Amino acid sequence: MRRLSLLYILVGTVLSAAVGLAIYSYTVSNKLSNRERLVILDTMRELAAEKIVGIESEILKADQAVFDAVDIDNILEIDSLARHQRSVKSILVLDDKQKILPSGFVTRREKKAEIKRFQKLFETRVLKDLKLGPRTPTERSNLHKNYDGKPHLFSWVRKRAKGSDYFVVIETDLPFLVGTMFSQFLSSQSPRFYQVVNEEGDHVYGPLLGKSGRTVSLGFTETVSNWWLRVVQKHSGASASKAKRQVVDFSLIGTALGIIVIGLATLLIAVRRERRANELKSEFISNVSHELKTPLSIISMFGEMLASRRTKSSEQATEYAEIIWKESVRLSRLIDNVLDFAKLERGVDAVQFARGDFGAVVERAVELSWHRLTRAKMEVEVDIADDLSEVELDANALTLCVLNLIDNAIKYAADGGRLRVGLRQTDSRQVLSVTDWGPGIAVEEQTSIFDRFYRAKAMRLQPVRGSGIGLALVQHIARAHGGAISVDSEPGQGATFRLWIPTKGHG
Ligand code: ADP
Repeated sequence: MRRLSLLYILVGTVLSAAVGLAIYSYTVSNKLSNRERLVILDTMRELAAEKIVGIESEILKADQAVFDAVDIDNILEIDSLARHQRSVKSILVLDDKQKILPSGFVTRREKKAEIKRFQKLFETRVLKDLKLGPRTPTERSNLHKNYDGKPHLFSWVRKRAKGSDYFVVIETDLPFLVGTMFSQFLSSQSPRFYQVVNEEGDHVYGPLLGKSGRTVSLGFTETVSNWWLRVVQKHSGASASKAKRQVVDFSLIGTALGIIVIGLATLLIAVRRERRANELKSEFISNVSHELKTPLSIISMFGEMLASRRTKSSEQATEYAEIIWKESVRLSRLIDNVLDFAKLERGVDAVQFARGDFGAVVERAVELSWHRLTRAKMEVEVDIADDLSEVELDANALTLCVLNLIDNAIKYAADGGRLRVGLRQTDSRQVLSVTDWGPGIAVEEQTSIFDRFYRAKAMRLQPVRGSGIGLALVQHIARAHGGAISVDSEPGQGATFRLWIPTKGHG
């Protein structure tokens, strides 16, 4: 018992260690992949920031060049300035009353109607938003806004000349920005996709992408401040191989855990089985010793009576001698059982074949049991078919089988008062049936009773002694003949044991 609980403790410890190890490996692998993910996201964020700074500094540089170069006294020069800076679409110079100075407006727009429309838009709506005045900073300010559904980017500064303020406003060429600068900076050759979207998330530049893959979004700050740069990691082989590695990791962990659990379960089952076999063996030894002792003491008691002539009559002497004879038969049967069983256990073939008559074997076994049956007050009906052919058999072994089956009926089913022994032949078999009208056998035990040392639960509680090897031996002998044994029983209604052997040898 102590050994078993130690084993349970050991199994528990190994199992918890294995589960702990599996959990640890799982978390480590998860942590690593999380860390990897964070590193990738950080890199993507850094890249996005770098790209934004690159694009914006180009615009700022161009703007600053314009702001620095505009001179109210030499206003005509703005024309060449605008031509020079490709990102600039329009330059407007306004006085302190926010009126566009004569010759203070140049634009790349070519159609007159377009120029007029833009000037009107600027004077009626944009100017209000720029809030030009004495407080306007001398450093660059910017406005990124939709007018009539179209995005516009303005930047401006306040300048001073001859004691009064004037303002320089630049309109950035957004189609140029998107069409040329973005494609210059945001090349799709890299392992990432770049996409620019507006505040509503609508696509401005770049490939149209779903939301799949790792994405990082970063806003522009100093120029197109309503737009966002999105970086999407392309589905690279690296992420596929990572997923594959993870699957391999997890299946390895799972398999290792499974093997450990199966190994431990098998060990436990083996130990339990061994323990049960040991219990059965010791039960067997005590049963067999008892079975040996009982007939021996009967033989010695009646033998002594006969020897000292303590019998009242010659009938009584005959009766005692008969008792001695029957008990010695019982004793020798038990010894045969035990010896044959021992041979079986050692793997020695206990069966020797010769051509013979199964019917004669059955008749002899019934004859040998006659006295015991009469004493048990059991009526016997023997029904052996006439048309039996000779078969390959071991007469001694089969006699032992029939004796065992009859013995069992006497031991367990004498209450039924009847026994029927039948033998008939079918095409390929000779079938022996031994039927009693005793307590029968519980359905769940109908296969176990053929196991060595097994004794039915109900019988273990009764004073009927047994060794549990009889039916195991019968089954072995039947199988050695190439046949089998089975039982047909309904509890309370008796039992029929059927043993068949083939007519065409055991081959
Ligand atoms: P033993 O009789 O020595 O216990 P066996 O192997 O011959 O061993 O039988 C195994 C068990 O099968 C018996 O212990 C008994 O419980 C059950 N059994 C065998 N024959 C009968 C029967 N005719 N009726 C009821 N139970 C039986």
